[in-house]
Amino acid sequence: MKLVRRSLALVAHDLKKDEMVSFAQAHRAILVRYDLVATGTTGGRVLAACPELSLTTVKSGPLGGDQQIGALIAEGQVQGLFFFVDPLSPMPHDVDVKALTRLALVYDIPMALNAATAHMIVGQMLD
Ligand code: PGA
Repeated sequence: MKLVRRSLALVAHDLKKDEMVSFAQAHRAILVRYDLVATGTTGGRVLAACPELSLTTVKSGPLGGDQQIGALIAEGQVQGLFFFVDPLSPMPHDVDVKALTRLALVYDIPMALNAATAHMIVGQMLD
C-alpha cells in the first residue's frame, strides 16, 4: 500500500506575509507532515523561517501562482488552502484571488482566509 502525503497550499499577500511566517513557525510540527505548495514569495519567506518543511513553490501570485494553485486544487492535488488575504490593498491580480477562493469552494476543501481561521483549522489537524 502506498501512503500518499496530503498537500496544503500557502499563499499570503504582501502585508500578510509576516503573519504567514508566524503561523508556519507556530505550527511547524504539524505542517512538516504535509507536502506544502506556496506562491513564490510566500514560499521563500516560509522556507527561510522553517527550512525543515517540505515546500514547493510555484510562480508569484501576480504572475500566475494563484492560478497554478487553483489548478492543483481542481486536479485533487491540494487538500487545504491557507490564503492570508489583505483586505485593504488594491491588487493587480484581484481576479486571481477570486478564482482561487472560488475553486476551493467548488472542490469543498478547507480554506482559511485569515490567521485566526488558520490557527483553528490547524488545531483540528492532529491526526
Ligand atoms: P507571492 O504571491 O507569495 O508570490 O507574493 C502571493 C499573492 O499575491 O497571491
